[in-house]
Amino acid sequence: MTTILVTGGAGYIGSHACKVLRKAGYTPVTYDNLSTGWADAVKFGPFEQGDLMDRARLDEVFAKHKPAAVMHFAAFSQVGEAMREPGKYWRNNVAGSLTLIEAAVEAGCLNFVFSSTCATYGDQDGVVLDENSAQMPLNAYGASKRAIEDILHDFQASHGLQSVIFRYFNVAGADPDAEVGEFHQPETHLIPLMLDAIDGKRPALTVFGTDYPTPDGTCIRDYVHVMDLVDAHVLGVKWLTDGKGSRAFNLGTGTGFSVREVIDHSRSVTNREVPFEIGPRREGDAVCLVSGSSRAKTELGWTPQRSTLEIMIADAWRWHQTGHYDR
Ligand code: UDP
Repeated sequence: MTTILVTGGAGYIGSHACKVLRKAGYTPVTYDNLSTGWADAVKFGPFEQGDLMDRARLDEVFAKHKPAAVMHFAAFSQVGEAMREPGKYWRNNVAGSLTLIEAAVEAGCLNFVFSSTCATYGDQDGVVLDENSAQMPLNAYGASKRAIEDILHDFQASHGLQSVIFRYFNVAGADPDAEVGEFHQPETHLIPLMLDAIDGKRPALTVFGTDYPTPDGTCIRDYVHVMDLVDAHVLGVKWLTDGKGSRAFNLGTGTGFSVREVIDHSRSVTNREVPFEIGPRREGDAVCLVSGSSRAKTELGWTPQRSTLEIMIADAWRWHQTGHYDR
């Protein structure tokens, strides 16, 4: 079986990627330092514990498993934290990714699938965000991901590294079998925090700002189901191993929902009240991030199956109720 090295395979998106890779006939090897991931989320292939900055350990893992491609998820990814501690984002995300890229190139592994973000676009009022939009990040998280995209371009020119760059919009939901799901410690994301408030694990959700220039005053995001997102990654590996070359793809649905709309949908999906309070804006948040691209559909053949708000919330709620969430 073809082996794929999955950095961050013990995390939310990486663990779902390992599940679909396994199902598609690949061997996913997780490389993760467990700083934010969970050993018990590594269920679908071998686990190699290690840090992105540890070049010797990376060399050892490349030599042992000889992956055909890398899927690189391992990163810090919280906007609020990035505003407070930008150095952490530049050091871990950029220097760590550079170390990984150099190790991959030296090992002769020239297919690289990279987890980037719509946060690289920044706040572009009224502009349709497609892959050719200017990348003007508002925070060190988005800036660190944009820098890694630049590194990938440079290594293509110098070493022939081929990359598929996926710019995610807001990833939500969980494996419908509830084998893996979303669990961050601390949690900062809207839907899991809302589910916590619904079942009393937190007193209330705080809505970060109701004075944005949107119809109901709250921020608008484009939510995409984690299973659909990782399906695109499997297509990305095939794209590269078929020799189609480097390409960037947005992964979003093209439909935006406000924070208030997400609250309303959660109320109807769970049939429970959503305790919430209004708070100030969160620094670094863009007003509206919605994908304006169908490139992933037309070129990769990506067909999202579960990316309605109802299904995403229902799948997240099912996972939430397994109790995995209480570890
Ligand atoms: N949000 C909120 N309260 C929270 C967490 C998030 O109002 O406790 C809002 C946040 O301001 C943004 C949206 O929900 O508009 C999605 O935020 P999240 O942190 O889930 O993802 P991000 O857009 O930062 O990647």
